[in-house]
Amino acid sequence: MQDTARAASHLSFEFFPPRTPAAVARLEQTRGALTALGPEYFSVTFGAGGSTRDLTLETVIALREATGVDSAPHLSCIGFPLAELREVLARYRDQGIRRLVALRGDMPSGTTGFGELRYANELVEFIRAETGDHFHISVAAYPEVHPQAAGARADLAHFKCKVEAGADAAITQYFYNVDAYFRFVDAARDAGIDIDIIPGIMPVTNFTNLKRFSDMCGAEIPRWMMKRLQDFGDDRASIQAFGIDITTALCDRLLAGGAPGLHFYTMNQHEAAVAVCAALGLGRSR
Ligand code: FAD
Repeated sequence: MQDTARAASHLSFEFFPPRTPAAVARLEQTRGALTALGPEYFSVTFGAGGSTRDLTLETVIALREATGVDSAPHLSCIGFPLAELREVLARYRDQGIRRLVALRGDMPSGTTGFGELRYANELVEFIRAETGDHFHISVAAYPEVHPQAAGARADLAHFKCKVEAGADAAITQYFYNVDAYFRFVDAARDAGIDIDIIPGIMPVTNFTNLKRFSDMCGAEIPRWMMKRLQDFGDDRASIQAFGIDITTALCDRLLAGGAPGLHFYTMNQHEAAVAVCAALGLGRSR
């Protein structure tokens, strides 16, 4: 591992909007610990259909005011009427927000109705048509292929549509297979996509949650990892130590192989991300 401090040119941390006073307090602690790493920005998720529209904005504003770190709301278009999207964009702009993560979103199972925009490329087009170059726009990318895609080639073509619509950068779904990332970046470059593709990193801290999320979003947990995690049972300390170890090794290989940065899915917890960044020598020189 690195023994000198190094910089990833893009370091960012993702949160979800807290809903209870205890969750707010937890995020306050988390944002303090992560601000010390000098991230480029924080981002805050947005519930599909607009279910967190006010909470996402409030969380972004609170983060920015408390930390001075640039903070970006996510915006998802599925099930969200155009008139409301327009209103949300205007509010973001009025608040001086300059960065967005633009997504399709996933409707909760059992709900129907896609809204007026069906795919994220249409959302990017809409944002550019409404607001020109005001926002830096990141979109999602899937090294292990989006679960609803017809195939890898179709998914890459759809990713390219988002870039052609005006995306500035991409953040990937999390993965534990480094080759999947590098092969995806190579395929994107061959397809003429030249924006930064920042790997999304999910530190391993809890086997049950990881398994559930991974089943939903199509991220593969390698068999060897699954077996090791199963062996630990309820031994949380061992899971966490193992999780920090493998997440650090993953990030180290990504940065050594030329990944332009790291975006951490924090689940509003800082301990694992801080430990991984410390092991990588990241952040101290920022
Ligand atoms: P799209 O790019 O629209 O792709 C969705 C699927 O449709 C893919 O299978 C694609 O191949 C296919 N597709 C795209 N265009 C077309 C087309 N023209 N014709 C046919 N098929 C097409 N979800 C939230 O609800 N809120 C969040 O805040 C949030 N944050 C996220 C952050 C990151 C970094 C990532 C990676 C994901 C996030 N998600 C979030 C989850 C995301 O919304 C889901 O993965 C969703 O299923 C796809 O969103 P997308 O923007 O990639 O969609």
